[in-house]
Amino acid sequence: MKTKTLIAKDRKYLWHPFTQMQDWQTEEFPVIEKGDGCYLIDTEGRRYLDGVSSLWCNVHGHKVKELDRAIKKQLQKISHTTFLGLTHPTAIELAEKLAAIAPKGLTRVFYSDSGSEAVEIALKMAFQYWAQKGHPEKKKFARLENAYHGDTLGAVSVGGIDLFHQIYKPLLFNTFAIPSPYRYRWETGSDPEKVKNESLNSMEEILREHHQEIAAFVMEPLMQGAAGMIDQPTGYISRARELTRKYNTLLIFDEVATGFGRTGEMFAADHESVTPDIMAVAKGITGGYLPLAATLATEEVYDAFLGRYEEFKAFFHGHTYTANPLACAAAIANLEIFEKQKTLEKLQPKIRLIKKRLEGFYKLKCVGDIRQCGIMVGIELVRDKATKEPFDAKEKVGVRVIERARKKGAILRPLGSVIVLMPPLAMTERELDRLLDITYDSIEETTNKR
Ligand SMILES: *Cc1c(COP(=O)(O)O)cnc(C)c1O
Repeated sequence: MKTKTLIAKDRKYLWHPFTQMQDWQTEEFPVIEKGDGCYLIDTEGRRYLDGVSSLWCNVHGHKVKELDRAIKKQLQKISHTTFLGLTHPTAIELAEKLAAIAPKGLTRVFYSDSGSEAVEIALKMAFQYWAQKGHPEKKKFARLENAYHGDTLGAVSVGGIDLFHQIYKPLLFNTFAIPSPYRYRWETGSDPEKVKNESLNSMEEILREHHQEIAAFVMEPLMQGAAGMIDQPTGYISRARELTRKYNTLLIFDEVATGFGRTGEMFAADHESVTPDIMAVAKGITGGYLPLAATLATEEVYDAFLGRYEEFKAFFHGHTYTANPLACAAAIANLEIFEKQKTLEKLQPKIRLIKKRLEGFYKLKCVGDIRQCGIMVGIELVRDKATKEPFDAKEKVGVRVIERARKKGAILRPLGSVIVLMPPLAMTERELDRLLDITYDSIEETTNKR
């Protein structure tokens, strides 16, 4: 089918996520037909660098032969069988592998299909854990401000993106919000130690006062992604662990974005050797190939669900496609590539290259703050550097930057006025250089020619 026809049919039949469909009728967009390594290729044959890993999930690139092969091999056995009352070898093998690489102590794997579900499951687990431990009063959640944990209602409830909260508020449950350590816009100044301590003091205050009713504190460790890449100072997650332990509250890490190497270690928790009680993973788990997620728990959490059948202590949750064999096969192959190709080792010089190149971005007139954790990057654009005055939403500065980037051959996706870079781990240094060149030029051209 010709590109024109495809676009017309898309506009006629589809409803895209997070998209004002009225604009979609007139906006230009590429129709991506193929992938090749870290490139996306549209129906006109144009090649684009995949600068945000196809929404933060691609790891080793597209059309990776080991991953393709693993899925084909599984296809020849079975594509799907239920996990309710049955099991299958691929899911078992993957669970063993996940337990082996997860922070020490996270030994139980509960599968689902998306990051939102993995978080939803974590919340229900924490809630039911306390109910069955004789503490039904522990039924609330604490979270960070600006948090993003997915789009289902439980996940939105523990999220803190105002835009989503406004409209759905009547459907959400209340939570305790802790100020996230957003240094650039912290009220009393940007000194990292001060910001860290003040944020952690608020955390302790809330836990001290309300721990009797709090089931768990849920957070994205090291980097709050969808908030605009807000990074946490060193020591923050260890202290969160100490405080949740001190106040007898479970700690849930949402590693949906940070997991599988994105921060430079396999998991964000590894940077400070922290073990949460429950951990949600998704995005990178299949190398960005197929939908799969997992919620990992400690034996302590798991044990609270054991009992005689008629006690009804089982975990009442499951999806039709739980532990889909094709997705599990892709996930195993993904982890094998990490091992065989030493992906994390090879990533370190790339992280340094990005860091070095980003320093030069401060020369740009509208670059207010640059935040990086591993290969997760947020470049915050502001109207006025001296006052940190933000751009007006109407100006759509982020959108304009990525439109320019697209013309220059890179696919990006902004978060408001924050330009996000999150390349696949496999992106070569040359490709990274080009991605950074395109990003730099696109920001410069957009903000100089306003
Ligand atoms: C993307 C994301 C989610 C939601 O995952 P989906 O697979 O899109 O449902 C949850 N938490 C974090 C931190 C994320 O980045």
